[in-house]
Amino acid sequence: MTLAQMEISTLDDELAHAWQRVSSKLSSRYGEAIFKSWLKPLRYFGSKDGRVTLSVPTRFMREWINSHYAEDIHTLWNEEPSAQGYVIDIIVPASQATNPKAVAAEPTQAAATAPTSGVVMSNNWQSSANDTVEADLQMGAALDPRYTFENFIVGKPNELAHAAARRVAESAQVVSGCNPLFLYGGVGLGKTHLMHAIAWHIRRNNPERRVLYLSAEKFMYQFIRALRFKEALAFKEYFRSVDVLMIDDVQFISGKDSTQEEFFHTFNALVDQNKQLIISGDRSPSDLEGMEERVRSRLGWGLVADIHATTYELRLGILQSKIDHMPNVPIPQKVIEFLAHKISSNVRELEGALNRVVAHATLVGRPITLETTQDVLRDLLRANERRISVDEIQKQVAGHYNIKVSDMHSARRSRAIARPRQVAMYLSKRFTSKSLPEIGRKFGGKDHTTVMHAVKRVEELMAADSEFAKDIELLEKILQS
Ligand code: ADP
Ligand code: MG
Repeated sequence: MTLAQMEISTLDDELAHAWQRVSSKLSSRYGEAIFKSWLKPLRYFGSKDGRVTLSVPTRFMREWINSHYAEDIHTLWNEEPSAQGYVIDIIVPASQATNPKAVAAEPTQAAATAPTSGVVMSNNWQSSANDTVEADLQMGAALDPRYTFENFIVGKPNELAHAAARRVAESAQVVSGCNPLFLYGGVGLGKTHLMHAIAWHIRRNNPERRVLYLSAEKFMYQFIRALRFKEALAFKEYFRSVDVLMIDDVQFISGKDSTQEEFFHTFNALVDQNKQLIISGDRSPSDLEGMEERVRSRLGWGLVADIHATTYELRLGILQSKIDHMPNVPIPQKVIEFLAHKISSNVRELEGALNRVVAHATLVGRPITLETTQDVLRDLLRANERRISVDEIQKQVAGHYNIKVSDMHSARRSRAIARPRQVAMYLSKRFTSKSLPEIGRKFGGKDHTTVMHAVKRVEELMAADSEFAKDIELLEKILQS
């Protein structure tokens, strides 16, 4: 190292320290929340010819900092003895991977002609493959690296949702007919997985598209925070500056008037500007209770893709793929089939069950067998057994009354079919945790009032007709066995 280089690095160190002090002052001035979102990402990058360069991950953040915090940064910076006289440039490095000290930031044309004091925004940013999503995650949420398309197993129950997600991910623009893309299905069936997969795909293949993924809860939190800090306008701008907005678990927005309102406006603005929206919920837009009608109907404008409960084949495929990714633990085929057969509630539980079995075997150092599996999963197996599905009820009841299962979904009104259908609706209400609209949907898209009527009618008949009541009790016993 030459003397000149040493001097440079000492000076650099001094300036870097000065920046650290300014940064912590900014932190106490603005408070943790704002600091974390906007100011903490500012990094000392280097210095050259009386200019100091700070870096931020994205252009958007740079502009935001410029319009909101530049003056304060400038003032605090000038309070630092070692920093006086330096002009600050804020840049977005072309590549985050570059060693910041090795490459001194080149002040740009814009910076060079800008005023000699204050914070100057250089124009030599270039969005790198990674920075867009990373910085957007300041406001959004982190993406799970395991949730990719490669790791998503496609089967009948999720093929539509998967195909739509792929279309949206692979397109460079909004996919007409798929905006918004509304993914819905029960818990643990892969909604979040698909959304992350879309984000990862775009991040890798189309890095200039700004993707923002966040939960509806986080959306609400950010909105309320923005109101508190009187930044509602900026909040709107922020969301409207993205190309692809994903809001997960939208059912959490229901009932919150002001957030719903904001969500609706953001939503409309984005659709009008031809931005892609992807929303998930645990039920279809029309079944979102506590949500304003106009919001609901707008949510259903694009493609509504339902993720159905898993089938045995899909569960088997998912298990197989998970096992392929695991270190060498021999799992007998019989055990895999047993799990796929028994843990039918959702994929999350299925994964959990597999992990438990493998962890147990590794810990005690004994091979996995059907017996150890049953033992380790006793509680889970019991819980899965007690759960009765609407499909099962329809099958049982159809069998009992000797009609076709498809008649459960039909609109036929003859008594011989309508009555068993009502019985099945009644039993669905009793034995599943599904809501009336959800049950109605399972019966060929009947209205929730039809289900309500069926429940009432069956109760009346049971009270009036003891033969009928016995019939129902028998069915209940079969279902519970
Ligand atoms: P949701 O958001 O619908 O509640 P998640 O997306 O969180 O469900 O999925 C729960 C778990 O199941 C995750 O670990 C996810 O990776 C896994 N999973 C769900 N569906 C599939 C699938 N088709 N293939 C592979 N893994 C899946
Ligand atoms: Mg989820």
